[in-house]
Amino acid sequence: MIIVLKPNATPQQVNHICDKVKELGLNPNVSRGKERTIIGVIGEEDKIRVQPLEAFPGVEKVVAILKPFKLVSRDFKPEASVIDIGGGVKIGGKSFVVMAGPCAVEDKEIILRIAKEVKEAGAKILRGGAFKPRTSPYSFQGLGEEGLKILQDVSRETGLLTVSEVMDTRTVELVSEYVDILQVGARNMQNFDLLKAVGDSKKPVLLKRGMAATVKELLMSAEYICSRGNMKVILCERGIRTFETHTRNTMDLNVVPAIKELSHLPVIVDPSHGTGRWAYISPLSKAALACGADGVMVEVHSDPENAKSDGEQSLLPDKFAVLMQELRPIAEAVGRTI
Ligand code: PEP
Ligand code: MN
Repeated sequence: MIIVLKPNATPQQVNHICDKVKELGLNPNVSRGKERTIIGVIGEEDKIRVQPLEAFPGVEKVVAILKPFKLVSRDFKPEASVIDIGGGVKIGGKSFVVMAGPCAVEDKEIILRIAKEVKEAGAKILRGGAFKPRTSPYSFQGLGEEGLKILQDVSRETGLLTVSEVMDTRTVELVSEYVDILQVGARNMQNFDLLKAVGDSKKPVLLKRGMAATVKELLMSAEYICSRGNMKVILCERGIRTFETHTRNTMDLNVVPAIKELSHLPVIVDPSHGTGRWAYISPLSKAALACGADGVMVEVHSDPENAKSDGEQSLLPDKFAVLMQELRPIAEAVGRTI
């Protein structure tokens, strides 16, 4: 931690800050330059980070040296984490894992048909929301537990693993009974009680980036989950809000290499929500693979025109199969398998 003082900071102010640092059991190191004085503090940065040092007279700014996240950082664990979902599926290793399925579980027949087709094309994980975070209270809210049961039945029939969103601390246990991965949606990325609750569960968690969240905030949310003892966190870029309105969101693929640099956790990309347009899913999925993502999550629907949610950003199964074929040579070129 470096405390930069104002040019006119008085010796009394410097002493006052040093006293505070010592009071915390740390060592202040004062360097007096021609124009500025800075105080370096070495030691447990956490102790001082929580202090409002910028409120002290004479302080211009405080510069943290260490990152605020620990457990999720590469410094803590240099090698990439590989998350074992079960059934031989691992996320974060050599394989590029494709999750696909409808936005919402609508009925058994529809999702079973989609599941068979995406499995045939090479997807490993079936997605489908049973609890849907809809912008309008009048839109389809999901089938709730009935949707989870359908998802589980379809998983048993097809052998696909499943991911589904949990929106509330009260349903973490319920959703955990039925699915292989708990999804925390963009709107809940900073629902800290929910993060703690999924952190207390043993299930892998797919944590989606909030639509106005920085990389640091995403990693701090992952830290919440890990700090409860659940290190099985998969991060997901799903587009952020920008001035651009042509697409539903702006895919920020920058975060893929950024997360790879800062964290050992795997990161996947969701080009359906990231773009809001089915025609852009294929190019963005390829870009995600090429830039180092560990997988993609794609919305697929057999009848997008009649989908209860997000039909406009869902691929028809045959287009999804073409995408899977087109991903293979890219995977080979970047040393991954699908
Ligand atoms: C979803 O994946 O079903 C979803 C609602 O996505 P997001 O939270 O990214 O909007
Ligand atoms: Mn959706």
